[in-house]
Amino acid sequence: MNRYDVIIVGGGPAGLSCAITLASANDRFDWSKNRNYLIIDNSGASDLLKAELNNVAGIPKGTVGANLLKEIKNQALEFGNIEIKEGRVIEAVEENGLFSVKTESGEIYNGDVLVLATGFHEFSIKGLNVEVVDNIRAPRPGKVMVKHDGNFKVRENLWVAGNIAGCSTMFASAIGSGAQVACDIMSKWAGKNVVIHDVPSK
Ligand SMILES: Cc1cc2nc3c(=O)[nH]c(=O)nc-3n(C[C@H](O)[C@H](O)[C@H](O)COP(=O)(O)OP(=O)(O)OC[C@H]3O[C@@H](n4cnc5c(N)ncnc54)[C@H](O)[C@@H]3O)c2cc1C
Repeated sequence: MNRYDVIIVGGGPAGLSCAITLASANDRFDWSKNRNYLIIDNSGASDLLKAELNNVAGIPKGTVGANLLKEIKNQALEFGNIEIKEGRVIEAVEENGLFSVKTESGEIYNGDVLVLATGFHEFSIKGLNVEVVDNIRAPRPGKVMVKHDGNFKVRENLWVAGNIAGCSTMFASAIGSGAQVACDIMSKWAGKNVVIHDVPSK
């Protein structure tokens, strides 16, 4: 059975950042051992593909968004416990604490935790019983977000990140929210507040 600890729908900056932060715990802690993460992405639709970045701290001025997205995907795949599958999720249902996520082409993946990082242009995934409202920070009307508790949690084991969470549509906001959601998921597993920090080896 295709069962994952966390399924992330959407492989833009928010979804990738969430996965990378989760995967960076690797096998360092008892609670992070043997975890596996799946990103399902209808690739080609991330807003980052349209951008050139001149205002992101730490990212060189003039960085082409499409190149950056490719780099972040490669970074994610360097962790052995992240898979990225191409597909458009059309339905997700929760039964007995397990999310069953279905793509347009009929694949079904199961996950204990679900993170929605689908951008703010529309939300058409059926079966989740979430409240889709006008996006509070979109620069133009007609954009949507999924209502959450103010800390990206929709309900137990269901999270949102990036534009679909009502973050300002800025690269840093998207990756920041993805990392925040990852830390909150790991904190639940660990039973205490968790961050993953590295230090230089020398
Ligand atoms: C023209 C333009 C210029 C920009 N310039 C800047 C800038 O200069 N500086 C800056 O900081 N930010 C800039 N941004 C904003 C930045 O690109 C976004 O804030 C960021 O991409 C949002 O990330 P996200 O992951 O929330 O959503 P997205 O990047 O939109 O990613 C969402 C992903 O989810 C996938 N998806 C959606 N629905 C499904 C589904 N049902 N099943 C599977 N996958 C799905 C999509 O295909 C996409 O890959 C710009 C954006 C645009 C449009």
